Amino acid sequence: MSLSITVLGSSGMFATVERAASGYLLDINGARIWMDAGAGTWRKLLEYVDYPHLDGILLTHRHPDHTTDVFQAFHARAYWVDEPLPSIPLWAPQETVDSVESYVEGTEGCFDLHPIAEGQAIEVAGARLSFVRMAHPPVTLGVRIEEGDNVAAYSADTGPNADFRALASGADLFICEATLQDSDDQWAGHLSASQAAALACGVGAGRLLLTHLPPRRDLALSLAQAKETDAECDVQLAEDGLRVEVGA
Ligand SMILES: [Zn+2]
Ligand SMILES: [Zn+2]
Repeated sequence: MSLSITVLGSSGMFATVERAASGYLLDINGARIWMDAGAGTWRKLLEYVDYPHLDGILLTHRHPDHTTDVFQAFHARAYWVDEPLPSIPLWAPQETVDSVESYVEGTEGCFDLHPIAEGQAIEVAGARLSFVRMAHPPVTLGVRIEEGDNVAAYSADTGPNADFRALASGADLFICEATLQDSDDQWAGHLSASQAAALACGVGAGRLLLTHLPPRRDLALSLAQAKETDAECDVQLAEDGLRVEVGA
């Protein structure tokens, strides 16, 4: 029984030279699930799993910095294989499914489209994935992953007014967005690093990984502001390529 998460992209808003936009590779008991498909994450994904062996895709919301590379998987799996590949599940909120379908035709032979909603849970390779509505303008679902006693949570994009207890209470690993720094004008739909730290520690998350990091900023400042908020918090910056064994 195992659960690991590899960061494919950790830049907020858009990809940079150093970092891809949002994306993660879940390995759940050997099943490879691509969670969020921001720009640059397809190339990173291919370092770890070749596209015929991808087992599913999960998109948290329709914003381009979380979705655009999904069309790379569509072109590869639909048009560039020796034998036709079975379709794979694509889980996403309904409006994200609608956005994917409006962009290209014919994805149904490639992806089994499964709309997901807040409060819903699905089983993937023996793990339970449940979805929490986050505070972000389009329908946005945070993801809680429970594999045996191992628990990971991912905030997707969010402001502070969401149910972080339902999402991340007692999580071994909480991957939380930290788009802003303390001196920024606060946005209702995003968090600062210090807010992320306070929320993570408030719900008893064991380890916090700050992600959706502000492009072209001093990220050491984000980390320092998070640590100032709660010196006890085990916090670090997400890095593209970082792999975490959850609960290990
Ligand atoms: Zn985003
Ligand atoms: Zn967003």
